[in-house]
Amino acid sequence: MRISIVGGGPAGLYFANYLKTFKADCEITVFEAQHESMNAFGLGYTLQKVDTILLEKLDKDFYEHLFYEETTPIITEALFKTNFQSRTLPFSEGFSVTRHDLIRYLKNRAISAGVNFVNKKILPEDLTNLQSRFDLVIAADGISSIARQQFKTELQTKEHKAKLKFSWFTNETEDERPEACFYAFKSEEGVILLTSYPLTKHKQIVVIEMTDNCLNSGSFQGKTPTQAIPYLNKLLSENGDQINLLSANLPWYTFKINTSEKLYTDNLVMIGDSAYSFHYSAGQGVTTSFSMAYTLAQCILKNPELSFALSHYNHSVGLLLTEPAKTSLRHMKWFEGIDQHFSDTNKNEWLDLFLQKDEYSKSKKASAITCSTNTCR
Ligand SMILES: Cc1cc2nc3c(=O)[nH]c(=O)nc-3n(C[C@H](O)[C@H](O)[C@H](O)COP(=O)(O)OP(=O)(O)OC[C@H]3O[C@@H](n4cnc5c(N)ncnc54)[C@H](O)[C@@H]3O)c2cc1C
Repeated sequence: MRISIVGGGPAGLYFANYLKTFKADCEITVFEAQHESMNAFGLGYTLQKVDTILLEKLDKDFYEHLFYEETTPIITEALFKTNFQSRTLPFSEGFSVTRHDLIRYLKNRAISAGVNFVNKKILPEDLTNLQSRFDLVIAADGISSIARQQFKTELQTKEHKAKLKFSWFTNETEDERPEACFYAFKSEEGVILLTSYPLTKHKQIVVIEMTDNCLNSGSFQGKTPTQAIPYLNKLLSENGDQINLLSANLPWYTFKINTSEKLYTDNLVMIGDSAYSFHYSAGQGVTTSFSMAYTLAQCILKNPELSFALSHYNHSVGLLLTEPAKTSLRHMKWFEGIDQHFSDTNKNEWLDLFLQKDEYSKSKKASAITCSTNTCR
């Protein structure tokens, strides 16, 4: 079987590694356009249980092989903060890895297994040619997939563009910071969201996000992420931390939530962010990419007939991701309205609001009902 993969991100590389390991006679070529995806500039990922189980299926010693310089702290806790409150909660055990290290590890492994790599940006008009030259074409080309755009009618794609902007930074601390952090700080302009993961004991990857309205007003107006650093540091250091963001020289980004009714058309199939993308707060991107890649490889290994394999894959992924995709979209819509949610809520309740998101008003209503019932008695 001859397979071409458009895109050498986590999804494409996991698939290439898995299939080549368990079906050595298939010929796989990965076409990779450097830095074509906004994730390519991302500084890193947290990997949790499912990711590690799937990595272990490729390599029992993956953890040692992934880190050739400095290992990363194991994350077991998450610190949630607003301007006046904070709470530490258990976090599903995991660790962070830079995108560079994850891609280096998966790519080197694939090369030694015999996967071919071609540095080339595939254009929409190249896809039909690939479809006739290869038995199967895998679109693993990320959130702005050309295959997704080219076959949008056949695949019945949907996308929701976030009314939010984010960028990556790093932060260095004197104290050891092994926990994941999720902060929501209200400023005059709107609510600033900080998400951070430890890369080393003293260095964290940080994502800062805010609504488009917030970024277009007051002290943020017209500022690049680098220019916004002094103001962000001041705001985010209000509740106990000394935040010292370092610039990654990146712009503000917008992302989309992708979903698709169908994951294949003829002999072309989508995996990873091209098919389903999640708001990063769900911490689900790499898990989804690896799981889709694993499911597709399994379906190909178990079904000698390609059309059965693709139909089986389509069905399995639908079962796996339809509900999480709905939840992610709901959460993103909640984030889009975060400035209003905070303004409408007493500051003593901001932390509960942030933790429960769109469930918060329901839980408030429920407790009000319980309270009034008890008073009646
Ligand atoms: C701010 C932020 C933080 C995140 N944090 C996490 C996290 O902590 N944990 C987590 O699990 N996930 C996280 N994610 C999500 C995660 O980044 C993605 O889900 C994951 O990278 C998707 O992998 P992929 O292989 O499908 O696509 P990508 O990583 O986008 O890879 C696609 C690849 O295809 C290449 N490509 C694109 N177009 C072409 C073309 N035309 N021709 C050839 N090559 C092409 C690109 O260069 C790229 O290498 C985060 C995302 C964001 C935006």
